Amino acid sequence: MVGAPGAGKGTQAEIISHRLGVPHIASGDLFRAAVNDGSPLGREVKRYMERGALVPDELTIRVISERLNAPDAVDGAILDGFPRTRAQAEALDKMLSQRGAAVAAAIYVEVGLDELMRRLSGRWVCRGAEHVYHEVFRPPRRPGVCDFDGSELYQRPDDRLETVRARLERQLPPMYEVVDHYTDRGVILPVRGDGTIEQVTEDVMRQIAQPARRG
Ligand SMILES: [Zn+2]
Repeated sequence: MVGAPGAGKGTQAEIISHRLGVPHIASGDLFRAAVNDGSPLGREVKRYMERGALVPDELTIRVISERLNAPDAVDGAILDGFPRTRAQAEALDKMLSQRGAAVAAAIYVEVGLDELMRRLSGRWVCRGAEHVYHEVFRPPRRPGVCDFDGSELYQRPDDRLETVRARLERQLPPMYEVVDHYTDRGVILPVRGDGTIEQVTEDVMRQIAQPARRG
């Protein structure tokens, strides 16, 4: 699954994995699981996570490869959160080809920049108990006031418009490179991500059902 933050790809990955009967492998969950299982690989991951450092691509690839050995992944898996760069996509291709496998489809959940901004920057939380609201999707009954405890609503720095814009400006160019990579490989499946969750899921399922358009 490829998509910008806020495109809803994690939600779709979860639903599609159930529909297809293959595991949803989210890189963040994978790292946490590796750390908890205390394996040698997990201990390596832990060293990076403890420092708040990025887990190197080479290590991430080994963790994913290990996860793909599990019995539930024998028919494939949905990767979510990886690859995020062209170099990662190439490393993933290499690892999969060594296993005699390949990326069958790169589902690209497309959402326009304005809509991403609207989704990502509209979050407000209350000072009393951190109840979460959204300007568009879950507004409070009274503007600026928590429905539950009457405390004031504020925006976390991460959810402010300028922070969100800066984050997208940093994350979108490498994502477009990943999209280009899979377009070149002939396996990109673009779906419009601005519909309801159900509409997007149906679009994905329809696209997957079509015969490969490779070559
Ligand atoms: Zn509250």
